[in-house]
Amino acid sequence: MAGHLNSEQLNHEQLNKEQLDSEQYDYDLFVIGAGSGGVRAARMAASKGKKVAVAEERYLGGTCVNVGCVPKKLFVYASQFPELFHASAGYGWSVPAQPTLSWAILRDNKTAEIERLNGIYNNLIDNSGADLFDGRATIAGPHLVTVNDKAYRARTILVATGGWPYIPEFPGSEHAISSNEMFFLDDLPKTAVVVGGGYIAVEFAGILNGLGVETHLVYRGPNLLKSFDREMSDKIKDGMVAKGVNIHLNTEINEITKTSTGLSVALNNQSDMQAGLVLYATGRQANTAGLGLETTAAVMAKNGSVVVDDNFCTADPSIYALGDVIDRVQLTPVAIQEAMVLVDHLYGEGLARIDYSDIPTAVFCQPELGTVGLSEEQARAEYQDIAVYVSDFKPMLQTLGGGADRITMKLIVDNATDKVIGCHMVGEHAAEIIQGMGIALKAGATKAHFDATVGIHPSAAEEFVTMREKAR
Ligand code: NDP
Repeated sequence: MAGHLNSEQLNHEQLNKEQLDSEQYDYDLFVIGAGSGGVRAARMAASKGKKVAVAEERYLGGTCVNVGCVPKKLFVYASQFPELFHASAGYGWSVPAQPTLSWAILRDNKTAEIERLNGIYNNLIDNSGADLFDGRATIAGPHLVTVNDKAYRARTILVATGGWPYIPEFPGSEHAISSNEMFFLDDLPKTAVVVGGGYIAVEFAGILNGLGVETHLVYRGPNLLKSFDREMSDKIKDGMVAKGVNIHLNTEINEITKTSTGLSVALNNQSDMQAGLVLYATGRQANTAGLGLETTAAVMAKNGSVVVDDNFCTADPSIYALGDVIDRVQLTPVAIQEAMVLVDHLYGEGLARIDYSDIPTAVFCQPELGTVGLSEEQARAEYQDIAVYVSDFKPMLQTLGGGADRITMKLIVDNATDKVIGCHMVGEHAAEIIQGMGIALKAGATKAHFDATVGIHPSAAEEFVTMREKAR
């Protein structure tokens, strides 16, 4: 019995067990899904000398690289040129009165760049020493993965299969497309209807509008981006309307029918809209269908996401999961951080923990949103006494360039501790600026720290260190 062994004998026993395990298993870690989280976990584990496999059925780099963050940001850049062309006149430039867009060039250049990134991911996996399987992997039981008709035994299986767009079923829903297809359209439509009020809906409404498509954003609720600071989301709505997006709040689609010229969209307010494209951006669901998790003790929530503990372990000790498939925070950098924590748990000191508070995030709508910490609504609910500082001004570009854009910045301070507990910005470069604010909030910066920081002039960001007047 182990209780009768001294520590040396115990170490021997441990050693023998490890030897036995490494003979028993083909891999220490078998990662299913080569997205941001899966690839990071695979590379980190391989760098620790573990025998690692990664299986991917679709594209290397996952949603973010292929049909998410990266191509989306390229499209955002593309959609911003008309305003820049307009502004350039005040700076002495002449551009044609009607600059034209070749959607085919934009789409194909984007695809070429994504293929370049796919290659980089391939090299990263290769160079790490992990084996890459090009095929759909399924779980056949604890410690058992099958891919391309072969079974592999793994000490640990990591499910990093991400999410997939969700489109509700209703009459004609088969005519709607998701963000996946937006990246590969044959042509841009003249008119588009975008459905939803979250990240993807507002981002694509801005892209389509900027690319010259008459854009209608249809949202069932009263406020876009409802989980963000209300003052900020109202500014975004006003900014989007000023740029030409037609926003229909408290509105739903009853039916879509195909017509000889495109699609007819029947709304619940008895009106119809004609459009060349209907994009549903109504959330994403965990990619677990047919994965074989039911052959193990792992548990899935009602929405299909995998239930894990603080160490990303499922109810089956051989199966872990992270990233969008666990339905915590669907953001690439969060999946990457989760992967680092997991590898530390499995193969390191096991001390790393993920902190889901104060995650900085940006929505690349137009105007752009950057935010970290609590919204004013959350702060009022959680804190007794807060101070709110708001600054609203015209970006400097407009002095010569014209245009209607504004920048709004907001700090929320807990008066009891002077700590800044919320930091928000709507306007140009908000994502870039808020990343640094994220470090400040993580470090527990107080309003006094902000006030003692020297500004960078002339910049929009300097407003964050020069706000002195409380708005509320
Ligand atoms: P979100 O969860 O952000 O928004 C979904 C929207 O769809 C909500 O407004 C929701 O309305 C609405 N909706 C849901 N079901 C229906 C329905 N049956 N009929 C009509 N409307 C419906 O999801 P997204 O698809 O926009 O994005 C998915 C995730 O991807 C985001 O949560 C985010 O984490 C990530 N992402 C991050 C980006 C970034 O970092 N910049 C960019 C893009 C995506 P309601 O509010 O009423 O429920």
